Amino acid sequence: MNMTDIDQRLSDKSRPVFTIGVAADLIGVSVHTLRMYENEGLILPRRTETKRRLYSQIDIERLQCIRVMIEDHGFNLAGIKAQMSMAPCWEIKGCTEIDRSICEAYDSALEPCWMVKVKSQACQEEDCAACQVYREVTTCGNMKSYLRQNWKNI
Ligand code: SF4
Repeated sequence: MNMTDIDQRLSDKSRPVFTIGVAADLIGVSVHTLRMYENEGLILPRRTETKRRLYSQIDIERLQCIRVMIEDHGFNLAGIKAQMSMAPCWEIKGCTEIDRSICEAYDSALEPCWMVKVKSQACQEEDCAACQVYREVTTCGNMKSYLRQNWKNI
């Protein structure tokens, strides 16, 4: 591997490199807390072939956002989930009327779209952890920015 490859790897914020212990240490919470966030659907870490969780720099920033919402703004986990559930995923994914009619995410005000069991055709084969809705729209400040740019279409 040459220096350019190494530089690219170092600058790739989506690269999952932090173990759960390191991620917990960076955020200042326990490993148990990170597992709880995952169980609640707030974070989708990558898994290795041996099922070990790995977090990227983007995941760490998402976790920082979650901590700020809890510690500085008084949200609980249900409140954060409810806020994430407001992302207009059907608009971003271009779901048809039929897709919307079958997808639980279209009506859910409690679960983010990646947590619902019955999804539209447009989402069934998707990797939610790599999806724009999860990665970009449902992070700190970004949903408002998205809505501001697109509100006429929603
Ligand atoms: S692919 Fe997953 S995260 Fe993206 S809109 Fe569909 S359910 Fe949501």
